[in-house]
This record gives sequence, C-alpha cells and structure tokens, in this order.
Amino acid sequence: MAATLFIDGKWRASSAGRIHEVRSPHDGSLVTTVDEASAADVEDAIDAARKSFDSGVFACWSWRERSELVGRIADLLERDAKLIAKKESDDTGKRLIEAEYDVADVVATFRHFAALGEKHDDHIVDVGLAHVTSRIVSEPIGVCSLIGPWNYPLLQIAWKVAPALVAGCSFILKPSELTPESAIHLMQLVEEAGTPLGVANLILGPGSVVGYALTTDPRIDMVSFTGGLSTGKTIMVGAAPTIKRLALELGGKNPHIIFADADLEAAIDNAVTGAFLHSGQVCSAGTRLIVERSVHDQVVSEIVRRAKEIRLGGPEDLSAETGPLISQSHFKSVENYVAKGVAEGARLLVGGVRANREDLVNGWYFLPTVFDGCTTDMYCVQEESFGPIMTVEVFDSEREAIALGNDTIFGLSGGVWSRDLEKAARVAAGLRHGTIWVNDYGPYRPAAEWGGYKQSGNGRELGSHGLSEYLEIKHIWTNNSPSKSGWFHDSSGGDVQ
Ligand code: NAD
Repeated sequence: MAATLFIDGKWRASSAGRIHEVRSPHDGSLVTTVDEASAADVEDAIDAARKSFDSGVFACWSWRERSELVGRIADLLERDAKLIAKKESDDTGKRLIEAEYDVADVVATFRHFAALGEKHDDHIVDVGLAHVTSRIVSEPIGVCSLIGPWNYPLLQIAWKVAPALVAGCSFILKPSELTPESAIHLMQLVEEAGTPLGVANLILGPGSVVGYALTTDPRIDMVSFTGGLSTGKTIMVGAAPTIKRLALELGGKNPHIIFADADLEAAIDNAVTGAFLHSGQVCSAGTRLIVERSVHDQVVSEIVRRAKEIRLGGPEDLSAETGPLISQSHFKSVENYVAKGVAEGARLLVGGVRANREDLVNGWYFLPTVFDGCTTDMYCVQEESFGPIMTVEVFDSEREAIALGNDTIFGLSGGVWSRDLEKAARVAAGLRHGTIWVNDYGPYRPAAEWGGYKQSGNGRELGSHGLSEYLEIKHIWTNNSPSKSGWFHDSSGGDVQ
C-alpha cells in the first residue's frame, strides 16, 4: 500500500503503523486500506501548515496566481474524472453515474472559485476626508482545518479546499474515514498543480481520534466542518477557547410543501426524488412532506406506489436508481429510527425494512419508507434520519404550512409547490431555511450560496460568501497630509526640536 498521509509536501505512512480498511457498503468487500494518522502525524501536519502560512510562501502569491493554481487543479480533476468517480462510488456504494455527476460538480466548484479569485480586488472607501486614503484589503485567515462527511465526499471537500486555496490559506484536510479515496486523489492533484510545500496537508482517521487536535489546537485559525449536528456542537465547544472562526454545515430536516393548486405530477415526481435519491443520505433531502389536506390522499398514494418501484442496486448496476446506506452502524440507526416512528404512532405505508433481494443482502440496502399521519411532536418528524424515510403531515392554510415548515431546530432547505407564484413567494419568504426551491427540488449551482439557518449551521459555502469565509478584512487608513491630532495641549507649545 502506498503511503496515504500528505504532510509538508511528502506522502507518509502512519507513524503509529495504523491501517484502516475501507469496506464496500454494497457487499462488504474490502475496497482498500489507508493509513490512519497518529496524534504525532496530526501534530506534524498542523506544524507544517502553520509554518507554511507564517512564512508567507503562498499568501504572497497574487490573487491571479492563486486562481490560476485552482484552475489547474480543475483541469487535472477533469483529466482524472472517471478514475475519481470510480473511487467515490467504490467507497460510498453510490451509482457510478451519480459519482460522475458529483465529480463534474467538483470541477465546476474549482472553476467557480478560480473565476471569483481572478475578479477579486481590494477597494477604497470614501471616509469624507480629502487627505485620507482608506483601503479595504482581504487577507487569508490563516491555517484551516477542513473536515468533510461521507455522503458527497469530494464535493463537500471541494467547497472548502478551492476557496481556501484562492484565499491563500494553508490547511489540513480530513475526509470521512469511511470515504478517503477521492481526497487522497485530490491531494495528488493539488501537489501536481504546484502548490507550495506545507500549504496542503492530508490527515486520515476517525474524527474521535484525530478530530480533537484539528479543532482545538491554538495554531488553527479556522475550522470548516460539514457533518452531523452533535459533532458540530462538539467542535464549537472545542474551538471556543481560542475564538476560531467556524463555518459549520450541519444536518437538515427539510420541509417539502405541496399546495393543492400545484402541478401535482411534477410535485410528486420531485417529492420522490427529493426524499429517496442517494437513499436519503443528502443533507437537503426533502424528507418532511407537508401536503394540503384536499390532495393528501392522491399525493401520498402516488408517492407510495412510486416508492415501491424504486430500483435499488450496486455501483455498476445501470438500472439502479439508488444504492445502499453507508455502513452497518448507519443502517442500524435508520432501523432504530423507523422503530421509534412506529412506536410513536406514525403509520408505516411502505418500506421500513432491509431490502431482501438476493443480490443485495450483503449490503446495507434499506427500502424507501413512507410514514403517514405524522405530527410535529414526533421524533421522526423532528430528527434527521439521513436515510430513505419520508414523513407526511397535512395543512389547511398557507399560514399553517409556513408554521409547520418552520417548526424545526434545523434550517437548511425546503421546497414549495403552487401554481400561484405570489403565494409561493410569500411562503418562500416565510420559511427560515437557507435554500428554498419554488416548483423544483434539489438543484444548486456553485454561483449561489449554500448554508443553514438555525442549527443547520453557520456561515455559507459557495457563491461569493463561500470565499469570504476564508478571508480576514483589513482596513488601512493612510493620512496623506499628517497633522497633529489636536487632543493633547502641550504646555511647551509643542514643536518637536
Ligand atoms: P459526522 O459528524 O459523523 O462526521 C463528519 C466528519 O467529522 C467526519 O470526517 C468525521 O470523522 C469527523 N468527526 C467526527 N467526530 C469529530 C470530532 N469530535 N471532531 C472533529 N471531527 C470529527 O457526519 P457524517 O455522518 O459523516 O455526515 C452526515 C451528516 O452530515 C448529516 O447530518 C448531514 O446532514 C450532514 N451534511 C451536511 C451538509 C450540508 O451542506 N449542510 C452536507 C453533507 C452532509
């Protein structure tokens, strides 16, 4: 096995000799083995990142030079797209074609930030004094820990690595221990593109082992994290003593609201996709269906019919529409979630169990599941399952639809379906979530910001704010005609001899 930790510009094995096995969620087979970093490796990575940043070796590059670097990485990602997609689909069990779409999105992310960097300029503000030049400059925030999840492994990392490089930061990247392969490949490309030594570092291992130092060490200036709510809270506590900047992309329990006057065919189709694509392992999955009472029966019976027909299958199965859950422990937590839903009185209409097809029984395949008769006090309505579980609630008025959609600690995304665009706009305005789709569900583009209200996180990725997260803003006031301040009345009358 080639060494898989990248520290201070060199590929290294774990100094503790620890190895981690990556297993296929599709059939449990061994995908690969990678190094698992020790505390000493993490220490070295933080050290390398800090030294490279403080030396100014990268921060002194111009915005154009850094943007060109990120553009070169985009070219290399495009060159290796097929190879990277195969690694992502091996690690996650997702369909190869889906992984290929994800890598195309990764390339688009790098291109977006490269273009943004090219356009970046410091600016002068008018402070109302002719003799003063007041310049606002953006500088890299410093050393960043970039920590990613397993559901879109490279994409979620790309949203962090690309802006960190354009901004001129040094970083330590830690992908999920379940899906490390595409991050290793990315770092090979970051190296090939000519990133200075020590700027980009890769640490592998479980968050419980390597995460602590990466989020508490005083030499880290910023933590950008995508993952679960409870991990986000732990990171926030650990980062508090040294007031690190935090960018947190956490969970969601996303309302998908269908009014009776919607294009129901399109709404039902998008509701099925929004909840069950990637087996619900999507932070913005529309797993909380909120439907107007008069069309409830029609909408729900049609969703159930379609849910039964969703084709499950492995990475290479061209007829498959979705794949397995990521791991045994996640599978068990989805099973428990369903058991809780049943116990609290939600009506199980379809699914709720493991797929029993012979070719799937060695993998973590869970059937698309619909719970009807749900109310907001239920665990299954309030908590994220991160699995293929849709809950259904009904509403009778526009005001009630908004109230239900906001009755959650999360605020990541939501959808509204109505042919009355004024009503849809009022509901979109009333919902406290970071992304709202009107008569659509799920698309995003790198040009537009992504992030959560409330406990879905803080900060934004993508758009222009996704770059601002990695910048400090400095105001430089230059007096072009120095004079006395006039406050101190010097008894000597004052002129310096
Ligand atoms: P997770 O919180 O278990 O793990 C995420 C990452 O954090 C992994 O790399 C893990 O090793 C690391 N980690 C774990 N404990 C840590 C600690 N104490 N300190 C530092 N790092 C630690 O989440 P997951 O299961 O990988 O991902 C699923 C979650 O991610 C879901 O809740 C989902 O909604 C969320 N998510 C959010 C977005 C978004 O854009 N808001 C996108 C994707 C996923």
